[in-house]
This record gives sequence, structure tokens and C-alpha cells, in this order.
Amino acid sequence: MSKSVDTPRKSLLISACLFGSCCKYSGDSNALPYETISALKKRYRLVPVCPEVAGGLPIPRIPAERRGEKVITSAGSDVTEAYSKGAETALLVARKFGCRVALLKHRSPSCGNSMIYDGSFTTKLIKGRGVAAEILMKEGIPVYNENELNEILPAEKEITLDEILAACDHTLLRVDCTSEEIRTLCDQAIKFHCASVCIPPCHVAGAKRYVGDRLKICTVIGFPNGYMTTAAKAFEAADAIKNGADEVDMVINLSMVKDGSWQNVANDIKAVREASRGALLKVIIECCLLTEEEKIRLCEIVSDSGAEFIKTSTGFSKGGATFADVRLMREHCAPQVQVKAAGGISSLEDAREFMRLGATRLGTSRIVKIAINQEAEKSEY
Ligand code: SF4
Repeated sequence: MSKSVDTPRKSLLISACLFGSCCKYSGDSNALPYETISALKKRYRLVPVCPEVAGGLPIPRIPAERRGEKVITSAGSDVTEAYSKGAETALLVARKFGCRVALLKHRSPSCGNSMIYDGSFTTKLIKGRGVAAEILMKEGIPVYNENELNEILPAEKEITLDEILAACDHTLLRVDCTSEEIRTLCDQAIKFHCASVCIPPCHVAGAKRYVGDRLKICTVIGFPNGYMTTAAKAFEAADAIKNGADEVDMVINLSMVKDGSWQNVANDIKAVREASRGALLKVIIECCLLTEEEKIRLCEIVSDSGAEFIKTSTGFSKGGATFADVRLMREHCAPQVQVKAAGGISSLEDAREFMRLGATRLGTSRIVKIAINQEAEKSEY
């Protein structure tokens, strides 16, 4: 089983006016189209900055252009100091947020990366850089402008059905599922090269005997409510490993979360971690029952727990995986923690979007059903 680390989104420094702020000298913005901002957000954590405002200049302000090392307004005032201060601030912001690339407005005396106005206020352009772009590039941060989006937004390769299937924990957790259904699930998962089958604990030993080394077996701990004692969960995990489980998906204690007993929540996870050493641990936080603050706190706790995955949902509560939750998890979990989206994933489009947002596992049975149907349709021709 691959335990490859999913990389969180990189930070991109972006001119605030391109992001939509009305910080231009005229009081307007240079907002990029909504679709472009959405595409950038999917790929990067955006860090907007307006160097001129950061340098203390007002909105609106008198336009200015570079003349050699100086910056002069159209009224003849020397505003070099404010522009330099703004550029230094932009660099500090880039360092603080770990921006290794910047998207800045072209032709601006602060942000321009290749061509700027020549200082005559006649719209004549010359080769040159704005003060902020210059300082960022000296720091080794490549600066692109809005006409060079291809450089930072290369066309995304479509995630194939095979790649989606390889991320699937082919799941059957119905309370009345039979051994025969579990064997069929295993056959399907082997045929379509799924990451694992996710099955009830009582079926682990039988499934392991049936598949041997041909497939990973995943089971659930403290499922679906998570309010068993920590000792009971640890025993369940150890028993599952003894029976042949390769992966365990545990439910956190939501009662402890609501009590604000964060140390107990962490201890609960760590006890299962200890009992399941050698197996992959996924921690289900049941997002639909949590506030945003609780989700973020749990991302931090899971990151410190030694678990390999954080998982959105059991699929047995009031809601399943959402795009917003996967995005939040990817943003707030440590890089070594992978994200599993589960609950309600019913189409290839959904699966692709979850994976684009950073999920590396999907808990679902529907993707295999789609693959089976596609195969059946092909064989009819
Ligand atoms: Fe836009 Fe840069 Fe000018 Fe600010 S300084 S208005 S971000 S081009």
C-alpha cells in the first residue's frame, strides 16, 4: 500500500487588485475573472498584497511612474520612499506565508514584472520592473503577470477512472451484510485494483482468509458512534489486527469533543494508534457534527497522533463528505496526514473533485459499480 504524502497547496503572492480589492490609484480594482480566481484557489493558497497601500499610500492617489531608481507622481512629487517601504512589506508577507511564486499586475510601478511605463506619463512602455517585483525577484521568487497565467496554472490532467478506483476503499458496512456479499466485494476490489475493502470487524478474519495477500483489508473501530470507552476501542483495534486487518478507520469520541476535553480526544486516538501499530490508521472526525473551530482543532490533534489519515465521515450520520471539509482538512492537517473523503460519493465528477482538492482515499462502493456498468455497456457493443 502506498503511503505517499499528499502535498498541501503552495502559497501564491498575488496583487490585491488582481484578487479584487479596489486598491488601484483610481480606487478601482483589476479583478481577474471569477473562474480564474477559483482555479488559482484550487491550486494555491492565495496571499493578496498591495505594495503601494502597504507602503502607506492612500486610495485614491496620484498616479506615479518609475524614473530610474526613483518613483515620481504625475504632479512631480518623489514617492520613492513609500514605494520602497511597500516593496519591503510585500517581501516580508511573502516570507511569512512561504510564497515561492508571485502573480503581480503587469506594467505597475510596483508590481510590473517585465514592462513598466517610462516615467513620462505618455503611456510609453519600456523594459523594466516595478519596485516590489524587483525586490521579490532578487529574493529568488519568480514573478508572473496576468498574461502569463499558463506558467502558474498549467492545464490539469484529468484524473482517470483507474486512478479513482486505486484510491477507493470499496466499502460495505451495512449491518445485515452477508459473508457472500463480502466475498463479492473482495472479488470486485481485486478486479478493479482498489486500495482496500472496508468491511465490518466480524468479517475481517474470513475476508483475510479469502483474499490472502491479494487485497488490503480495512475495518472500522468504534463505529459508527465513537462513544465506546478508549479501552474498548483499543481492544477492538488489536483484535482487528490479530484477525488480519491492514487498515483501521476509527471514530473519534464526539462527546469528548463537545465537552472540550481535547486531551481525552487525543488520548483516545493515541490508544488506538498504539493498538494498531503496523496498520494504517484513519481517524474519522464526523464533520457534519462539528463546528469549523472543532474541525480545525481536530486536524491539529490528528496531525500529532501518528495517524496516517484523517477521514471526513462515517456515512451513518446526518451528512457525508463535502468539498469544503476536504479543503479545510488539507489546509489544516500536517503534510504527512492524508485525507479520506467518505459518505455520499456517488459520481465520477464528485470523486475527481475530492481528489483534486487533496483527498487520496475515497470511501465508497459506487465507483466500482460505475466501473462495472461501464464494462457491461462496452460488452454490449
Ligand atoms: Fe495593484 Fe500592485 Fe498597484 Fe496595488 S500596487 S494597486 S496591487 S498593481
